[in-house]
Amino acid sequence: MIFTSRFAPSPTGHIHLGNARTALFAFWAARQSGGRFIIRMEDTDQARSPAELAKALLEDLRWLGLDWDEGPDCGGPHGPYTQMERLPVYNDLLQRLLDTGHAYPCFCKADELSAEREAQRAAGKAPRYSGRCRAISAAEAQRRLVVGEEATLRFAVPRSGTLRVEDLVWGERAYSLADLGDFVLRRSDGSPSFFFANAVDDALMGVNLVLRGEDHLSNTPRQILILQALGLPVPDYGHLPLLQGSDGQPLSKRNGAASLRELRSAGYLPAALRNYLGQLGHHYPATHWRSDAELIADFSLARIGRAPAQFDHEQLQYWQEQALQHLRLDDLVAWLRPHLTLVPEEQISGFVAAIRGNVHLPADAGAWAECCFLPLVISEAVRAELAESGAEFWLQAQACYQERPDDFRAWTRQLAQRSGRKGRSLYHPLRLALTGREQGPELAQLLPLLSHEEVLRRLAPIPS
Ligand code: GLU
Repeated sequence: MIFTSRFAPSPTGHIHLGNARTALFAFWAARQSGGRFIIRMEDTDQARSPAELAKALLEDLRWLGLDWDEGPDCGGPHGPYTQMERLPVYNDLLQRLLDTGHAYPCFCKADELSAEREAQRAAGKAPRYSGRCRAISAAEAQRRLVVGEEATLRFAVPRSGTLRVEDLVWGERAYSLADLGDFVLRRSDGSPSFFFANAVDDALMGVNLVLRGEDHLSNTPRQILILQALGLPVPDYGHLPLLQGSDGQPLSKRNGAASLRELRSAGYLPAALRNYLGQLGHHYPATHWRSDAELIADFSLARIGRAPAQFDHEQLQYWQEQALQHLRLDDLVAWLRPHLTLVPEEQISGFVAAIRGNVHLPADAGAWAECCFLPLVISEAVRAELAESGAEFWLQAQACYQERPDDFRAWTRQLAQRSGRKGRSLYHPLRLALTGREQGPELAQLLPLLSHEEVLRRLAPIPS
């Protein structure tokens, strides 16, 4: 089956990992089947949808590695792709629903509706609209509209029957129509409701696969009713289990809810996020690093799980390391560039090659650059540990180094012989002296970055 899928963000905030995952899955499903992928901006909540956010959102999606065949920035045959530009389309279809008796004006005021909901809750019932205005005759409704009375437009849900929906993730679900309540299609300010605009846009844009968050699961029967009433095609729906924080609670700032923007400015690589998100609530046949072609080819709607997926910072770190290992040296240099100001131009490649295994985020490179190109500051604990090796060892180290300064293996072999040390008891003090740290890049790679004098200074006996 060739899928046309879409991502339909509401530009009310930046994209978080949960949404990013939904976007990627929809994108992969389309690409794998050879179908189209569309971006649609759902900005009908005008008060909360500033234009800059919509722009930032597209930037973030491109950064993540998505590309789309149709969208607000590139147009396409089913445009416009921003809902506020589609109002005439909605008005025509709403009129059709009115004309065919599937919709009716509702004159209930907000306070009447909330009183009704309160009463239902108090009686232990699920709150839903009573359908009171459905009884108003067309002529009477017209009279009230003409005199300027405010009204919403509601969908007339059949009073009985069951709607069965086959969800790609959750399987078949049955909804009793009597429980749905007549829902709003157009608000009193004339803007279309989410249920309506979202459903008809999918149909008009030829979308046949809707992947979205589990929070939309209960909207689906209403949206199918709208499409059936209009004689429009109904897409396949798949609702992704929500992404939870590392503690199993809803994702929030505290437990990992970073936006793509924040992750990007912290230095996460988009390929790391793609590999990470691809295995979050979806499993690939085997766990290993995947190129984009493999992420797409191996993706399967059938392998989306029903359990809530949990954000895991360690996993993200792991995929970041993998992404770094798979980056070409010149791309790595470009990524680290702002943190390489201390590194002489001719040493940049050597430096980056040396530290690449010890860098998670670009700022880490700055710390290694300080270590190599500024005088070394060592802690009291390290100083004490160095002193333990004794002055003689350090004098031998200096002497061996001076004999073969360009050949790390040769001079440390020599030092091993003279000092009688080997393995960790040889290399660990050297590492501490040369870098001030317990761990780090291979010394053989690091050493050529230090000046001759600096190496001698670092190998000097510690005055006790
Ligand atoms: N604008 C909706 C949201 O951001 C879209 C839901 C959907 O994908 O259908 O939640």
